[in-house]
Amino acid sequence: MAVVKKTCVECRKALKKDEIALTQKILDSDAQEFYCLDCLAEYLDCDVDDLKVKIEEFKEQGCALFLK
Ligand SMILES: [Zn+2]
Repeated sequence: MAVVKKTCVECRKALKKDEIALTQKILDSDAQEFYCLDCLAEYLDCDVDDLKVKIEEFKEQGCALFLK
C-alpha cells in the first residue's frame, strides 16, 4: 500500500491520517487539500478539542474514512 505524505494546505505541517480523514468527513470526501487540526479548527471557528471529540465519535460510528 502506497503511503502518500500529505501536508496541511495552510501551514504545511505533515498530517496524521486522522486529520486527513476528518477533512474528508467534514469538508468534502473528494477533498484534495487537507488541514491539520489547528487550521481546521480555525477554518471552522471551533476548538481543536471539539475536533478530537469528533474524530472519536466518527471512529465509534465505524466511519470508513477513519479505518483506512
Ligand atoms: Zn495547518
